[in-house]
Amino acid sequence: MPLLFLVFFLRTLSEPGCVYEKTMAEQGLFEVQQAIPGILVQLKYATPDNFMHKNVYGCLQKAYLQKEVVARLKKAQDYLSANHPGYHFLIYDATRPLAKQWDLWNALPQYPPKLRSNYVANPVEHSIHNYGSAVDLTVADEQGRPLEMGTPFDYFGEMAYPSREKALLASGKLSKEAYQNRLILRQAMVHGGFMPIQYEWWHFNAFSRAEAKRRFAVLK
Ligand SMILES: [Zn+2]
Repeated sequence: MPLLFLVFFLRTLSEPGCVYEKTMAEQGLFEVQQAIPGILVQLKYATPDNFMHKNVYGCLQKAYLQKEVVARLKKAQDYLSANHPGYHFLIYDATRPLAKQWDLWNALPQYPPKLRSNYVANPVEHSIHNYGSAVDLTVADEQGRPLEMGTPFDYFGEMAYPSREKALLASGKLSKEAYQNRLILRQAMVHGGFMPIQYEWWHFNAFSRAEAKRRFAVLK
C-alpha cells in the first residue's frame, strides 16, 4: 500500500499541466475553445508579440472565462457567423491572474497612475479580466487572418479609442475599412450582451467591475 501511495504521489508531481489553467478549471471557469467550436485563441501575453515583448503568461495558453460569459460569447459568435459567414472571433486575452495584472502594471512606469489606468487596470482595484468577466478579441477571416482594425492590439493612444472613431474617420486617420470592421466586432459583441469601453476597441466587459466582484472570486 505505501508503494501504491508513492506511485500516485510521483504521478501527481509529474502530471503535465499549467497551474493557472488548473486553478481556473477548479474555480469553475470554462475553457473557451472547448465550449465554442470555431473560435480562435492566441493569448498575446503568452507570446512575445505584446507591449512588453516577452511571454508574461508562461504556461497559460488557453482562454478561460466564467460560464455566463462563455454563453454570451457563444451568442455573439453565432450572430457574427450568421451575418458574416466565414468570420470568427480571435481571442487575444481572457481571464488574467492577478499576479499577471501586476506584471503589466509595473511594465508601464512611463505613464503616471491616472493615465496608466486608461490602458491597464490598477491591480489594487483589480481588472474585470481578473474575474473572468472581460475578453479582448478581434475578428478573423476564413483563413484566420485578423481583419484591419486601424491599430494593433494594446496600442496605447487615441487611434484605439472607440470614443474617437467618428472624428478619426472624418479626418482620414482611421480608414473606412477599419471603422467598419470595428462595427462588425462591436455589433456582434453587443448582441451577445457585452459592453464596449471607450479606450480600447478590442476590450469588452460582460459585467461591471462591481457586479463581477459581487459574483465571482478574483483569480490570483
Ligand atoms: Zn482587456
